[in-house]
Amino acid sequence: MSKLHAPKTGFSTRAIHFGYHPAQHQGALVPPIYTSATYAFPDAAYGGRCFAGTEPGYFYTRVANPTLALLEARLASLEEGVGAVVFGSGMGAITATLWSLLEQGDEVLADLTLYGCTFSFLNHGLTRFGVTVRHVDMTDPDNVARAMSAKTRVVYFESPANPNMRLVDIAAVSAIAHAGGARVVVDNTYCTPYLQQPLLLGADVSVHSMTKYLGGHGDLTAGAAIFADAELAKRVRLFGLKDMTGAVMSAQDAHLVMRGLKTLALRMDRHCQSAQKVAEFIQAHAATEVVHFPGLPTFPQHALAQRQMRQFGGMVAFELKGGMRAGIRFMDALQLVTRAVSLGDAETLAQHPASMTHATYTPEERVAHGISEGLVRLSVGLEDSVDLLADLQQALDHAMDA
Ligand SMILES: *Cc1c(COP(=O)(O)O)cnc(C)c1O
Repeated sequence: MSKLHAPKTGFSTRAIHFGYHPAQHQGALVPPIYTSATYAFPDAAYGGRCFAGTEPGYFYTRVANPTLALLEARLASLEEGVGAVVFGSGMGAITATLWSLLEQGDEVLADLTLYGCTFSFLNHGLTRFGVTVRHVDMTDPDNVARAMSAKTRVVYFESPANPNMRLVDIAAVSAIAHAGGARVVVDNTYCTPYLQQPLLLGADVSVHSMTKYLGGHGDLTAGAAIFADAELAKRVRLFGLKDMTGAVMSAQDAHLVMRGLKTLALRMDRHCQSAQKVAEFIQAHAATEVVHFPGLPTFPQHALAQRQMRQFGGMVAFELKGGMRAGIRFMDALQLVTRAVSLGDAETLAQHPASMTHATYTPEERVAHGISEGLVRLSVGLEDSVDLLADLQQALDHAMDA
């Protein structure tokens, strides 16, 4: 641990400067974008060493690329890891990591609530290859302790998790998982390294969809895995990325993510401040049944949020009293807030799972997944909060007329 805590510059300083020296690049302030797919070998022996893994040079972009390497170094620094690997999407990062950690006969213990495609990869993908997947409610770490078996290789969860923003105690669950010989993979997309540092709390891998806050502008898809163990990082790069998924990120998108990282702390501060105001406002409105936001004192895990997160994030979920009809009326009344899935953009986005992402589920299936008919999820953007509150007010009023 001592190396991880060595004195270093602050978060934003590293997000802007880490790993790059203009003097080594003809003075260019902004790092150049290396678009080359392949790299010339000075002689045959060098090429041989590259393929044997004993020469650190670049040889093919699906394995490593200077632009991607700079982004990887910055991400590892920001989240206190020993290494990082970037991917063409968040699902690329998640699948490459799990393909690298698991084999036939192994078992994954996963939280009850997961991002839909992660749930699908586990239950409809890995299970076809002899991996067993079991789900437990990880809001209580004792459930993890009870469910661990000799075959459990990976403990996987998100915190906060969709749709009700439930948290998992990363330190407690990591200790339990490690005692049973399993690795801990945390999806840290909602928090970013600025709000939560899973590796310092004991997790082995932190995965991200950089499509969301890290890119921050809704104009790219990308993912990352950040590691506490250099050997595992190498395996995920040379097997999970290179052979199993091929989910390589484009250098142009890496440039855009590095541009996004420069303002990450500023943006997250604003997302968090506005989300707090939005959550309090919605909670006080008569149309609202309940608000799920870790920053509210009424949130069941508010104390854990204070312990584990630097601030409470930009995602707010709430349930309308009027159910499905109120949800649809609220959505259709929105004028400034955009009706869209995804999150982490400058624009505030609203989605109503019962009529949108989970419209094909039966009402019973929705209940089983914790999705009430009146549940709405907001990704609070960077607009002036006074304008957001005005739009939400009129849409909530409209929902009451249902
Ligand atoms: C979006 C998202 C993903 C998947 O990321 P993509 O970049 O869309 O592949 C995974 N986990 C969470 C929590 C997400 O929000």
